[in-house]
Amino acid sequence: MLNRILFSICFLLFTNITSAQWFSNSFQVMGTQAHLEFWLDTSEQNSNTSEQLIALVQLEMNRIDKAMSPYKTTSELSLVNNKAGSEAVVISNELFELLDESQKIAELSEGAFDITYASVGYQYDYREKQKPDQISINKALQAIDYRAVVLEPKRSTVRFSRPDVKIDLGGIAKGYAVKQCINLLKTAGVKHALVSAGGDTGLLGDRRGRPWYVGIKHPRAEEKTAVQLPLNDEAISTSGDYERYFIEEGVRYHHIINPKTGDSARKVVSVSIIGKDSTYVDALSTTVFVKGLQEGMAFIDQLPEYEAIIIDNQQTLHMSKGLQQQFQ
Ligand code: ADP
Ligand code: MG
Repeated sequence: MLNRILFSICFLLFTNITSAQWFSNSFQVMGTQAHLEFWLDTSEQNSNTSEQLIALVQLEMNRIDKAMSPYKTTSELSLVNNKAGSEAVVISNELFELLDESQKIAELSEGAFDITYASVGYQYDYREKQKPDQISINKALQAIDYRAVVLEPKRSTVRFSRPDVKIDLGGIAKGYAVKQCINLLKTAGVKHALVSAGGDTGLLGDRRGRPWYVGIKHPRAEEKTAVQLPLNDEAISTSGDYERYFIEEGVRYHHIINPKTGDSARKVVSVSIIGKDSTYVDALSTTVFVKGLQEGMAFIDQLPEYEAIIIDNQQTLHMSKGLQQQFQ
């Protein structure tokens, strides 16, 4: 009898533990580390298994990487870079939409965000500590102008108005991938999830009665966190000059480029943007990094749906007006 009761208790405990719990997974994609956390209640009808959900997210991130990577010669982006200088190229709706969003942010930011920065961007190799000389930069600058990317919605085509234009979606594609994955999980019935790719994080719901805490890395002490933010149901993206860089003669050359100079942007060291749409949040963090503290903060303060945390060259932390109100 006692055995039976014990067995029942164990069974109840066991089913309780396994039917609803947190799952997590990390993997490499888009040249960075992606991370996934979600709460899954398998006792609910038609529920996916945790393995299925993890596979769903991994497949989606890899699919986007395959289409948008500049390093894959067979990607749709590479096809555009090879051909759009000489003819209009028919592209997928997905790439068209992302190019369209990139162009909107380029206009809004007056060219601080510009996917044609790639003409000079592709001449930097941070691992090999290589940078273009001034003559190469000046030549590349002639091909940097987002207005040279011509989108034709009717036929879903893209064409470059100069033959030497190149584009790169590194400032927006990870945020887009995060958004897609959060939407897939939501459609699958998940209510609490975190998806991140490098510095881009999307959140679905809260952490079951508690907020998610997302850390912003300390820009000059690798394992340290500068600040932890309680967030729910929104996205945050951080752009830092410590992600990909090398130092030569005391100057830091890193992966966020001022499209007007072809040189790395050096007015600030870290920018985080918070808002609902992770695609925009990603592109805006790159944008504000280029603009710097005064201009960048003024830019964000006029966008009611986005907030910013900027760490300047003296490692002082600055918050946008909306965040200041929230924390006071
Ligand atoms: P990370 O890629 O580390 O998450 P960001 O979101 O700040 O960092 O994006 C930086 C990437 O954006 C660069 O690696 C490059 O691919 C691209 N990029 C750099 N400068 C610009 C720019 N001015 N406009 C648009 N994209 C840029
Ligand atoms: Mg970005």
